Amino acid sequence: MALNFGFTISQARSVNLDTSDWNLVNKTLTRFPELQSCIACGGCTATCTAGNLTEFNFRRVHTLVRRGEYKGLYEEISKCMLCGKCRLVCPRGINTRAVALFLKSELEGKK
Ligand code: SF4
Ligand code: SF4
Repeated sequence: MALNFGFTISQARSVNLDTSDWNLVNKTLTRFPELQSCIACGGCTATCTAGNLTEFNFRRVHTLVRRGEYKGLYEEISKCMLCGKCRLVCPRGINTRAVALFLKSELEGKK
């Protein structure tokens, strides 16, 4: 009989940099070099309109893109309403709305 401790141990997670697809990362960072100054503060996610209504997390999306992991990301980024609130609060002045729009169009081909 399995004991219920009230919590579970998360599966180990690793990024295989050799199998990651770096094309979109390079394209995104060439277009938006300021994305490299992201401090992962989560301000974009905290104020996100879509994030208030769904599980959408913009910080998670762009972090995964920067790791070259795109599985399920088109469905995720499609939840973005392009309202631009995230851009207003970003302490690094990153045009997050433009990044979201760019990722939406680029990921469409990777569904
Ligand atoms: S608000 Fe700006 S600096 Fe903070 S996580 Fe979002 S993109 Fe990065
Ligand atoms: S533009 Fe998209 S990611 Fe930014 S706050 Fe609006 S819904 Fe969220």
